[in-house]
Amino acid sequence: MRRTYLFLVTALLAVALTGLIATQVFWLRKSVSIAENQYDDRTDRMLHDVVGELRQYSDTASIIKTTPYQSLQLYDVIDTVLLNSLIRKYVLYHSLDKQYHYGLVSTAEGHIYFSSPGFGKDMEPESHKACLSCIWQKSYIHLSVFFPEKKFHILMQMISWIVLSAVFLLIIIGVFSFIIYSMIRQKKISEIRNDFINNMTHEFKTPISTISLASEILMKEEQKPNAERIRKYSNIIYDENKRMQSQVELVLETAQIERQEVKLKKEPHDIHEILRNTGKCFCVEQEGKNTVIQYELMASDPVILIDENHFRNVVSNLVDNGIKYSGPDPHITIETKDHNKGILIVFTDKGIGISREAQKRIFDKFYRVSTGNKHDVKGFGLGLFYVKTIIESHGGYVDIRSNLNKGSSFFVFLPGRN
Ligand code: ADP
Repeated sequence: MRRTYLFLVTALLAVALTGLIATQVFWLRKSVSIAENQYDDRTDRMLHDVVGELRQYSDTASIIKTTPYQSLQLYDVIDTVLLNSLIRKYVLYHSLDKQYHYGLVSTAEGHIYFSSPGFGKDMEPESHKACLSCIWQKSYIHLSVFFPEKKFHILMQMISWIVLSAVFLLIIIGVFSFIIYSMIRQKKISEIRNDFINNMTHEFKTPISTISLASEILMKEEQKPNAERIRKYSNIIYDENKRMQSQVELVLETAQIERQEVKLKKEPHDIHEILRNTGKCFCVEQEGKNTVIQYELMASDPVILIDENHFRNVVSNLVDNGIKYSGPDPHITIETKDHNKGILIVFTDKGIGISREAQKRIFDKFYRVSTGNKHDVKGFGLGLFYVKTIIESHGGYVDIRSNLNKGSSFFVFLPGRN
């Protein structure tokens, strides 16, 4: 998958998602504003009903009929107990919030004649008002009702829609992120696969052409046999064949590890002996390199339960890396010490070292530190992945400490026998 294609798809998805969220937010806000308008409408109708019934009372109350108009007081005309019960009744009837405050307020001076507990002048600007001039003509007064929890009430009425919208949006964002993640992963896998094929081709091309050259020479030798030359070219064929074999084995073993088909045959073994024996094979001069391996084997009880074959491969991989990634005279130190009821084995080299960034991915399958020219040091990027998997399946762990151009230390911990 091309980088521009990936970028284009991500950008399009991001634009679509942002548009969707913006539209959703717009409609939610619109719905809230419609709900607010409806609430205001219901409040006005509630006030209209209350005033209507109050007026019926004032038209029929005997005190009003028997008292001369001059002597009538506001409370003779407006029964506050009745007012209270009417407001309660119509608030329920119009499905308004049960938390409210109301008051009888003089329109001109803002004087409060009567109010429910909690009502104050500061609520006046946001209150709903109904003029009472049809009931009380002596002065201008109005009935004010204020709902302190109005917004919350409206929000609670819409909560199921808001939650549903949020859930659907979250699902879309989740799926969106997953698609992008899968695409990036897919791209990485395809890059890794291409690298692997390139490395593999390169790894096998050299031994194959060496073998073919050596065998051609051997075929020519048939007419005039020379024992020394025959031995030399047979050795070359044998060595190159061995190298190819070990490469194929590493690839196959890694595939087995992945399918979790590796069965460890753990038996008590002296790891000091294995370390010395495996290290010995590397001390012969290889590809013009003069390798020195120094041992500081201090663990008090080196006999632990391990799968000998796999452990030998682990040691080979770490020592081989130490040599591959060092200059012409590799110097490797192998130490062992007692640690947390187990043994800590440290492989230290004075090679090229590994950057902090690369250290985080060094144990990933197929990962190779980019050097610009990938083929100057041979490998598939499987060695450390193999080391980590095998050591972890022994119940241990692997760690690294490294400084660029100074060298690296690989720490391998293996738990003890209990
Ligand atoms: P490879 O087959 O490439 O050696 P590994 O899994 O063994 O694969 O190592 C992964 C990468 O880690 C290597 O490509 C190399 O860049 C880096 N590396 C491993 N060991 C060392 C070391 N001792 N010193 C410096 N770099 C190392």
